[in-house]
This record gives sequence, C-alpha cells and structure tokens, in this order.
Amino acid sequence: MSKVIYMDNNATTRVAPEVLEAMLPYFSELYGNPSSMHRFGGEVGRAITRARAQVANLLGATPEEIIFTSCGTESDSTAILSAVRANPEKRHLVISRVEHPAVKNLAESLHNLTGHKYQVTSLGVDSEGMLDLEEYREALNDDTAMVSVMMANNETGVIFPIAEMAEIAKERGILFHTDAVQAVGKVPINLQELPVDFLSLSGHKLHAPKGVGVLYVRKGSPYAPFVIGGHQERGRRGGTENSASIIGLGKACELAGMMMSMENTKVKKLRDKLEEGLLAKIPNSLLNGHKTCRLPNTTNISFEYVEGEAILLHLDEYNICASSGSACTSGSLEPSHVMRAMGVPFTAAHGSIRFSLSVFNTEDEVDFIVEKLPPIIANLREMSPFWHNRDK
Ligand code: PLP
Repeated sequence: MSKVIYMDNNATTRVAPEVLEAMLPYFSELYGNPSSMHRFGGEVGRAITRARAQVANLLGATPEEIIFTSCGTESDSTAILSAVRANPEKRHLVISRVEHPAVKNLAESLHNLTGHKYQVTSLGVDSEGMLDLEEYREALNDDTAMVSVMMANNETGVIFPIAEMAEIAKERGILFHTDAVQAVGKVPINLQELPVDFLSLSGHKLHAPKGVGVLYVRKGSPYAPFVIGGHQERGRRGGTENSASIIGLGKACELAGMMMSMENTKVKKLRDKLEEGLLAKIPNSLLNGHKTCRLPNTTNISFEYVEGEAILLHLDEYNICASSGSACTSGSLEPSHVMRAMGVPFTAAHGSIRFSLSVFNTEDEVDFIVEKLPPIIANLREMSPFWHNRDK
C-alpha cells in the first residue's frame, strides 16, 4: 500500500473538496479588497458576511459575535490578553495542566513577564485525563481575571465539562474562555446554552485551510483587540481579511453542521475498530484518556517499553501518519506534558501514539494498521532493554 494513510487529523486536516471549490474564485477573478468602496470589492465583502453567518450558525452564535483571526493560537492569545486588559486590578488566571502551548505558554509568559506578579493556577487531571470540579471551585478567587480551559484535549481527545465550569465562573463574575480548536466540527456546540464568554477555533482542524481561525466573543463581554490596525472586523482585529480562507472556513462550518452526526458515527466506528484491534493484538498496550468522555476520532495508546518516535518511523515506512505523545527536547526524551499530568508511568508515556481519524479514512486502512503495527512493536521490544528487564 503506497498511498498515504493519514491518521493525524488532530494535527491538521485535508481541505475538503467542496471547501476548495468555494475558495478558488477568490484567488483569481474575485480578488478585490472587501473594504473597498467599489462593487468588485463589495462582492468579496458579501461572501465574508455569508461565511460569518455560516460559522455563527454552527456554533449557535450571532454573526456579530464572530471575529476572524489568523489561527487558533491568535484567538487564544486575544481572549486571554483581552481579559487581562479588561481587569487590570485582577492578577490571577486559571488554566489546566493539559492545555495546548497556545494557552499554557502564554500563561507562563504572563507570569514571567510581570515578575511573577501574575499568578497562574494549573488544574491537575486524574489518570484518565479528567478534571476535578472541586479543585476547580477552590482555585477560583476574587483576584481571578479569567478561566481558560480547553473543550477537548488534542492528545487524548478527553472532553472537559465546560458547561458546568463556565456556569461556576459566571456565578463568581469571572470571564471564561474555552479553546475549542479540537472540538468544533467533532461535537455539537450551542453557545445559546453554553455560558462561555470567549471560544477559539481553527480552520485547519475542520477541513478548512491553515491560517484562518475564529474568536467568538459573547455580546456584552469586555473585549480589547490584540492585532491593532485598520477598521476590519468592526475594529476588533486589524488587517486585510484572508478572504479565500475565511470563505473556505464558512463552507467547512456549513458542511460540519450538515454532516457531523453522520460522519461521527462512521469515524467513531473506525476509531473503535482500530483501538480494539491494537489493544487485543499487542500485549502491554494501554489506552490513555477516558474511554467514553472523548472525541469520536481520537485514540491514544501506550505501547509499553518502546519509544514513540521509533514506532512513528516504522509506521512512516508504510506511509502511515500518526503522532507521538513524547517530544525529544534538548537531547532528553521527555514525555508530553499531557502524559505527565495524567501520571502515565515512564515506561508507557514514552511509547504513546495518537491516531486521529477523519471521514476520509477507510476500514481497509484500519485493517492495514492492525496488521502492520503488532510486528513493529514486537521487533522494537526485542531490541529494548526495558522490555527484557520488565519483571526484574
Ligand atoms: N489549541 C489546540 C487544542 C490545538 O490542538 C491547536 C493546534 O494543534 C491550537 C490550539 C493551535 O491552533 P493553530 O494551529 O490554528 O494556531
């Protein structure tokens, strides 16, 4: 099998053919600036208005609450820094230990750049990657400017109880942001019922192109722009609009709204077949993350006593794309912060592999991986001193 078997959809996704088709005219014949006074530019402006409505529709928001950005990271930064500026007297942020670096590193830099005046509480997770709501309640105080907790984790797919957490924050008058980059398009979201102030999403995780994102800002929530410039996005985010990508994102949101439940049933079935096949055929393999409270497309499995990077290289020889939960940093192999937060033992954390599927995957691809991976693991274990010494 020489074609690429792509199971790394939490890293990025293929642009859907319908999305590409919707975008193409805006690279060639419809290249006007949406802010121009002439009708030629106005046509692009109208297409962006349509895209804004498509995004709002998927989320149960109003179009005025949608701000187009360049990516999920920009949306996260904008939300958090906006809360910091809206509450200059408050100096405390609550996040979780398993946030994406877009939130985790920003919170850390806020702490460091203010000479440790800004405090960050990072909520722990249990061995299944779940948060403790009691710990969360206790973390909030009168100095808390914002809570920023992801809707679904990118490594394990674990889904957090955002509705309950946002309600608790609201009762305390604290702003709530959720990084929903991995959740949008995979689970239904209705912002009429979900009491968050800010929500981030990223186009390239839901079959739209890279380089476009959205920040949802609830009407009435305090907001300060991050990219300051022209009057675009009603003065809330400067910079000429990435028209083609915004129009592509609108189309992707429309497709997600129509297809999500049907696609999720298919994707979950494939994911479960892959997971069950690998866990059954490979001894000393363990699922990371809660079994049911999870995105339908994600499975993260540890193969004990082997290195994730080595597994990925062998999978790559078959053109299978997945990703590893460990990262090689400064010469030492450090398991990811998510695996560490979950307390996954060293011998398992190093061998964790994430498969993240999409509607473009097939049953043949799942069967192929379930056939090829067991001998790869067996061969790597033959060479692993940890495997041979495991019972000593
Ligand atoms: N948040 C989460 C949970 C993610 O998984 C990612 C990307 O992997 C991001 C934020 C960053 O999104 P972007 O790549 O669009 O900046």
